[in-house]
Amino acid sequence: MKKRICIILCIILIVTLSACTCGTSEASFQAMDTVMSLKVWGSSDACEKLEDRAHALDERLSPTCADSDIYRLNENGSAALSDDALSLIKRTLELSAQMKAYFDPTVYPAVCEWGFIDGNYHVPDDEWLAALVSLIDSSDVVVDGDTVSLKSGMSIDLGAVAKGYLADECREILYDSNASGAVLNLGGTILLYGSKPDGSDFKVGVADPENPAGYFGYLSCSEGVIATSGGYERFFEQDGKRYIHILDPTTAKPVDNGTLSVTVFSRDGVLSDALSTALFVMGADKAAEHWRSHRNYDYILLSDDGKLFITEGIADSFTLADGYHFEIITVSQEDAYAKKQP
Ligand code: ADP
Ligand code: MG
Repeated sequence: MKKRICIILCIILIVTLSACTCGTSEASFQAMDTVMSLKVWGSSDACEKLEDRAHALDERLSPTCADSDIYRLNENGSAALSDDALSLIKRTLELSAQMKAYFDPTVYPAVCEWGFIDGNYHVPDDEWLAALVSLIDSSDVVVDGDTVSLKSGMSIDLGAVAKGYLADECREILYDSNASGAVLNLGGTILLYGSKPDGSDFKVGVADPENPAGYFGYLSCSEGVIATSGGYERFFEQDGKRYIHILDPTTAKPVDNGTLSVTVFSRDGVLSDALSTALFVMGADKAAEHWRSHRNYDYILLSDDGKLFITEGIADSFTLADGYHFEIITVSQEDAYAKKQP
């Protein structure tokens, strides 16, 4: 009798354990010049499809891969593009038109000149910078059917939005694969999909710019895309000054406005990714103004004076990690009304 109970208990244990693990699949790989890690619940084949999609998009959108759509466009000044490259360029141009002084995919010649692509870092002289500024203007990009054309000397880079686009594409794949939930870390751009098996909120760490392997705080949230832009991701130092890979399109120079990192949360991957770059360039005050006039996203902005700005939509969902003492400032709609008071 005892033996039989033991066997039954063992079977129950094995069934329970396999039910817990077979519903989870994980993968980790390199794409888009970064490491991506996937965790999916409720679908055994989604990870493979997601990884395939990441590699396929990388091949189309990379500005350095010789067969990519973007490389062909930059080399020839005009090219017929795949649906992916075309739809992302159109969306990027729309977003750039709305915030051109801060977000512009035609900064690419300047990104190259500063050395952020080939690693040959240097500070261009003023004459060069003036020439580079004259090449930056997304309204000079012409889309005619599936053909995109650039002004002479111009080139583009979708690096600020490619991971966000991938996040949106991954959401579709997860839906089609009947996944119940997923956390996809696409090199710092994170897609939160569906729900976790225990139904609890997702908890995402926000990287500490001083020590990017660690987190200065945590955000609890439901579905959406979280994108972070930080000067710490790629930079060089010369004569004691740090030059970062996010450029001000109006000067062709690395941004130097006191912003250390910006994390954006929204339902839309391309929007989150574009805004993390754009709000970084705007800096704290203009970012707050932009949020107040749009409000279809939330953000966390850390500046070098120890101030942490958080929009009211996610302020209660954010927890500062132990040992961090930033001054937290909630950005709310009311401030705008308060400012209007005589
Ligand atoms: P990352 O790709 O490191 O996660 P971002 O999303 O902020 O960071 O994108 C930065 C990349 O976008 C840069 O490497 C550069 O190629 C490009 N870029 C830099 N400044 C701008 C800008 N103001 N607008 C659009 N793209 C930019
Ligand atoms: Mg971005």
